[in-house]
Amino acid sequence: MRRKFLVLLSLLIFIPVLFLNEEAAAKADRFFFEKQGRAIWEIPTNKKMIALTFDDGPSEIYTPLVLDVLKEYRAKATFFVVGERAENFPEIVQREVKAGHEVANHTYTHPNIRTMNKDSFIKELRQTNEIIHQLTGFSPKLFRPPGGAYNESIIYTANEEGYTVVLWSWHQDTLDWKQPGTSTIVRNVINNVRNGDIILFHDYGGNRMQTINALKKILPELKKQGYEFVTVSELTRMNPNYKYLNLMKTFKYSNELPPYTNRTYREPGNAKE
Ligand SMILES: [Zn+2]
Repeated sequence: MRRKFLVLLSLLIFIPVLFLNEEAAAKADRFFFEKQGRAIWEIPTNKKMIALTFDDGPSEIYTPLVLDVLKEYRAKATFFVVGERAENFPEIVQREVKAGHEVANHTYTHPNIRTMNKDSFIKELRQTNEIIHQLTGFSPKLFRPPGGAYNESIIYTANEEGYTVVLWSWHQDTLDWKQPGTSTIVRNVINNVRNGDIILFHDYGGNRMQTINALKKILPELKKQGYEFVTVSELTRMNPNYKYLNLMKTFKYSNELPPYTNRTYREPGNAKE
């Protein structure tokens, strides 16, 4: 009897501890941030819409070529620009905005923000914001961390600075920065595309001709399938679960969680390709 009581007692003590640990462990993962609208990876919608995104530019060589292809297929995209590069090529950033694309923040120097202190990170965000604002008259609302690095501190700081953190759809990462070959990039996108995807490309950081040639195949094919190419901000408006994103400026450690549906994901690296 006494032993039974002791077993019961220890269960009563350990079960809550297990749950607490689980909650603590869940904190740093994608679902935790996504549930609160602090960061997005894609925007599930029943509309055939996708967001093409380009990181690390502007590049004086490749960005104009990307813009030419987008124009040809009347596609809108989002450019996550590096502040110091935007400063060097202001006319390209202005061309992006004039063509109806969204310009977003990708830090000032593309540092490793995981190891950076909070003040330096904030400086990176604000310097870039200032340049984009000077060049376009708009303040960016979206931030993508260099290398897709995220943790609580990065996401909360970006939120406090008024940004929604934008990652990308893991199930069809183009890996174009590795220059895997035009046809591999095309296949990664075409074979895995889903409504509401946020697709990652790069318009700087090496020879980007594979990316540009892949776009020339991807855009007409997806257009034929009925997809529309919109900016990330436009895409967020397609799902009522994400309507709060536009209020992010005033969103600060809110306990008000948005409605959320569970979905399944493959982590990057677990993909077959
Ligand atoms: Zn980058």
